Amino acid sequence: MYQKVFQLHANLYKALANPKRVEIVHLLRHQELSVSQIQKMLGLKQANLSQHLSVLREHGIVDTRRRGTGVFYRLAHPNLIKASDSIREMLIDKHRGEATLTHELRLRMKDFIPLVVDPVCRMRISPRTAAAILKFRGKTYYFCAAGCKNQFLKRIRRSVVRLSRPPVRKGIAHL
Ligand SMILES: [Zn+2]
Repeated sequence: MYQKVFQLHANLYKALANPKRVEIVHLLRHQELSVSQIQKMLGLKQANLSQHLSVLREHGIVDTRRRGTGVFYRLAHPNLIKASDSIREMLIDKHRGEATLTHELRLRMKDFIPLVVDPVCRMRISPRTAAAILKFRGKTYYFCAAGCKNQFLKRIRRSVVRLSRPPVRKGIAHL
């Protein structure tokens, strides 16, 4: 029995011994998500994601809930959040002195989570996995990988040109 306890621990660590699976646990810490939402946030192929989800499910790390017509994944136990916070604190101590990494580690995962909308193609993406980020007039915009940032910049340039000309007509196009 005594040895069994360690084996159970080891099995759980093994299920988590993959960066994508750790990331899935983080994505789920504040919300339930459908497979397609997780897929968009991680940019994984469906087959690949299914495999990760089934490992996590098999080990009781996540479970599913049917909501309306969709199936949603959620963390199976709140202690997973506590455990991951404790590990993160340990990592911050260990990597003290590596400013950038420590900063990343310190970011509350909540800051990564909210899905944002690409202002050009309206795709829902995670700030964490956005292909491009732009700060403009105090706002942060996130873009997909399909070149939407460039389109957005073109729009800005056009509107700046318009703004710098004497107004010929009322109503300046807004972004
Ligand atoms: Zn886009």
